[in-house]
Amino acid sequence: MRRPILAANWKMHKTTGEAEAFVAAFLPRVKDAAADVVIAPPFTALERTGRALAGSDVALAAQNVHAEEKGAFTGEVAPGMLVDLGCRFAIVGHSERRTLFGESDAVVAAKAAALFAAGITPIVCVGESLEEREAGRTPEVVGAQLDGSLAKVPRERAAEVVVAYEPIWAIGTGRTATPEMAQEVHAFARGRLRERFGAAADAIRIQYGGSVKPDNAGELMAQPDIDGALVGGASLDPEAFSRIVNFESVHAGKR
Ligand code: PEP
Repeated sequence: MRRPILAANWKMHKTTGEAEAFVAAFLPRVKDAAADVVIAPPFTALERTGRALAGSDVALAAQNVHAEEKGAFTGEVAPGMLVDLGCRFAIVGHSERRTLFGESDAVVAAKAAALFAAGITPIVCVGESLEEREAGRTPEVVGAQLDGSLAKVPRERAAEVVVAYEPIWAIGTGRTATPEMAQEVHAFARGRLRERFGAAADAIRIQYGGSVKPDNAGELMAQPDIDGALVGGASLDPEAFSRIVNFESVHAGKR
């Protein structure tokens, strides 16, 4: 049975004060959630958000990390620094990092490995572009991203990793994959994970991401291989994100 995981990716939004105000409004709305709930603020708001979340079941996450422990990497943040702030998860390989900042599967794999070594769970994002989907290349692209990005995940720790399938054409566009389209790729991804990690693949949580909103979350979450969501835009609003969390909780008994 896979416990669903809902993660808020705030991207480059929210000051420290705005983050605190979110947490104050959000926590009372998600008491006893039957899912893991994670918030990924920008680096600058990690500490204050972590303090605001202290004592709750909601986990803190980073949106990115550098693979090295320390050194001359101006502007970068090391895994140990995230541990220091109480991060339990970190997103790696988000499509915005891949397309806008040139991150390759090899870079993503190194980051995921560094996170594991530091005791932080990586949320590894994969997903095809519209052009790739229309050319019928979704399995090829997603399969290669999974192989490359998870290349350094130790087999005995595979069950811990979280994968986020996020079709690029659905991120921030208001276009969501239909539940059937998403399920098809999730089932494919789980098969690929099984080839690589064996039975551990059945324990790996695969989130869907791409314009998830309160009104489409329920039908997406009802799919057998969708184990939660990575939510951008709708996660900025405590009411909307809490509705998504509570929807998932309703479906949590399905597996
Ligand atoms: C994301 O940033 O990972 C995302 C899925 O964004 P949105 O929900 O806004 O499409």
